[in-house]
Order: sequence, then C-alpha cells, then structure tokens
Amino acid sequence: MIKFRPDAVLVNGEFHSNMVVSMLADGTLQSVGEDVDEMAVTRKHRVWMPGFVNSHSHVFQRVMRGLGERQTSGATFWSWRESMYRVVDRLDPERLESIARYTFHEMMSAGYTSVKEFHYIHHGRSGTPYSDPNEMAKRVIAAGQSAGISMTLLRVLYLSVAETTQQRFCDPDIETAFRWTTRLASEVPVSIGLAPHSIRACTPDQVSEAIRWSKDHGMECHMHIAEQPREVNYSLERYGQRPLATIADSLDSHVVGVHMTHLSDREIKRAGEAGMTACICPTTEGSLGDGLPSLREMLDAGVRLAIGSDSNVVIDPFAEIRMLEFNERNRTQARRVVDPGSILDACTEPVIAGQPTNWLELDTTHPALVGVPMHELVSAVVLSGRPDCIAGTWSGGQFRPREQPDPSLYLSALEQLL
Ligand SMILES: [Zn+2]
Repeated sequence: MIKFRPDAVLVNGEFHSNMVVSMLADGTLQSVGEDVDEMAVTRKHRVWMPGFVNSHSHVFQRVMRGLGERQTSGATFWSWRESMYRVVDRLDPERLESIARYTFHEMMSAGYTSVKEFHYIHHGRSGTPYSDPNEMAKRVIAAGQSAGISMTLLRVLYLSVAETTQQRFCDPDIETAFRWTTRLASEVPVSIGLAPHSIRACTPDQVSEAIRWSKDHGMECHMHIAEQPREVNYSLERYGQRPLATIADSLDSHVVGVHMTHLSDREIKRAGEAGMTACICPTTEGSLGDGLPSLREMLDAGVRLAIGSDSNVVIDPFAEIRMLEFNERNRTQARRVVDPGSILDACTEPVIAGQPTNWLELDTTHPALVGVPMHELVSAVVLSGRPDCIAGTWSGGQFRPREQPDPSLYLSALEQLL
C-alpha cells in the first residue's frame, strides 16, 4: 500500500485539504479520506483530481485539423463532411493505427485518461469486410493500449448507405453486426459498447433493438441524436417525428445521446425521465456551427452530463468544460449556470475503492492557478485551467510526467493521406 498527501484532493466536487489517497502498487484505489499517517508521501503545491473522460471521439478525424476551413461562403457541417469523407476513402489499417496512437497520446497529455471511441470505419474501400471484420477496431484498440489510455470501443451500427463512402461503415444486417460486436468483445482486453450511428444510418426499430441488445449484454449504448436541423427535418419527413421522439419508448439510463443540440421540450423531458446522458462536444459543435444545446433545461429535467472531443479539432478537456459553461452563460445571459464541481464530477473518472483510478496531478504554482484560494480552486480549474497545469498523471501506481507525443509516426501516416 502506498499513501499520498497532495495539498488537496477533489472529492464530491470540491478540493479538500488534509486528504490522503491510498492505493495498491498497481494503482488500485484503497481509500480517499482524512488521514494523519505521517508516512504518506507529501506532494507539495500539487492537487489531485481524477482524469477526464472523453465520452465521444472519432480518433481519425484528428487529421482534419486546419482543413475544411477555406470555403468562405456556403460552408456548412455537410461541406465539412465531404472533406472528412475524402480522408476516410484513403484510410487503411496501418495509417489508422499510426494516427490513433498519436492522437490518444495527445489526449493523455491534455488530461483525458479515458476515452469512448465511436468507431465506424469497419470495412475496406468497397465495403468488403477485411479477413477479420474487426481489423480496424483492433487497430484502434492497439493504439489506445500503446498510449496507455483506458478505452471503451463503441462499435458503430450503420445499416443504411446513402453515399459510396458510407459502404466502409455499413454492416450487412443487424444480426451480423451484433455477432461481430460479440466476437470483438471476446477477443480484446477493453470494454466494448454498441453505437447505432444516427437516425440517418439506422431506422427507429433498429435503434430500439440495439438499445435492448446492448442492455441485455451489459454494454453502453451511444448514438448521435440531433446535431443539425437537417437531420431533424429528415426524421420529421421520414418518420413524422423528431429523432429522439422516434425512439422515446426505448430510451434507458445506459443510453448516451451525443449532440443533444436540437431537442423539443418534450424530448428533453423524456430524456430526463429515462435518466439518459447527454454528451456535449462544445469545441466540435462550435467548429461545425451546430448550435447550442438547452443545457440548463436538460440538467433540470434529470439528464446527466458528459463531454467529448468528437472531431478532435481541439483536444483539451479544460477548453470543453469552459466553453460548455461560457456558451450556457451567453445563451441564458446569466452567470454560474452549472455548478463547477458538478461539471468536474460529471466529466471525470468515477472514484471507486477497489478499482484502478487515474489521477491528474495539477501544479498550483502554474500561472493559471497560482494564488487561487483552495475553496475556490474548483471554479478556477473549470474556467481557467489548461492542460499545461498538469504536472503528470498517476496511472497504474506510477507517475508519468506530462509529455508531448512523438509526431514522427503521425506525420508519415499523414503524408500519404492528404
Ligand atoms: Zn460524432
């Protein structure tokens, strides 16, 4: 057993002094609490908080950074998607793994210690499965393991093709997709979840079946909900209802809705009743001009909160939570709309005795935090924090100083892609 005494530890949304974190040599948490043990290792000018959870990522989209920005008129989410699909057409397993390895390192360096990767490029260029239909998923998982990030791979369910590029995403039918998902879960050392892509890629019946199936198999279920008004209109024309309304009867507390941006009051009420989670991706939603979610209304209805780096145009959890709160202040013309402690609690790893916990060690002498009283530090972390406040990460019982990822593999993969 090893014991650490930083200046303070984040517990239940507040930084508390006089706390000792006890863990086994492999990082398994034993306890967090007040302790007078003088043998505890003191970490002066350091505070600890659990690592951030990146609840929505498409890791390969990191290569889009800086691209798709030149068009000055008529540029939309949909024109950006055309640029993104040109990258998809050129991705092969080796390049995907190189890009993912770099990008997961970048996430770790920024303070994400855990990622839920929404993985949808399954097959070869014509939609033909690789000899192992989970080849691409396994490359992403290998990259995550190399970077040392905890991962849940969400295998995407995509069953309807409107454009040639989407053939790479599409499985032959729902039974085959379930079978390949089960097979993947049995062959890899990370958690596997299921992700019906969106109401554009699956019918409401297929989404409902996926929600039931994932629950029966103890898996998380994630889905893009309503990122753009155009997909709301598509759903209204095709099904006579808005996207979330089409699956209202199937919603459950293990469902994570990504981009809950364009919801009606009724949909918000139903999402809250179901106890589902809304994953907001403020930097990507801002980059793509998606619009602002009704965050305060969702939280009041009982919806839980998560954040994601999504397109990875920005990989910085501090930027996500700051933008989340600032967007909401601008939308409601009020201040302190969401309690900063509850933002940190919602967007970081759970602290559970008996399980491995990844801790961020923040340097309180960093210019972003220096001089802030301990009882206000949680607000400063949410509104002023930056990745370079992180001195390092405690993971598996080891301290890993914050370091930049090596760009060499990434750059050679990129040369062949763009
Ligand atoms: Zn997404």
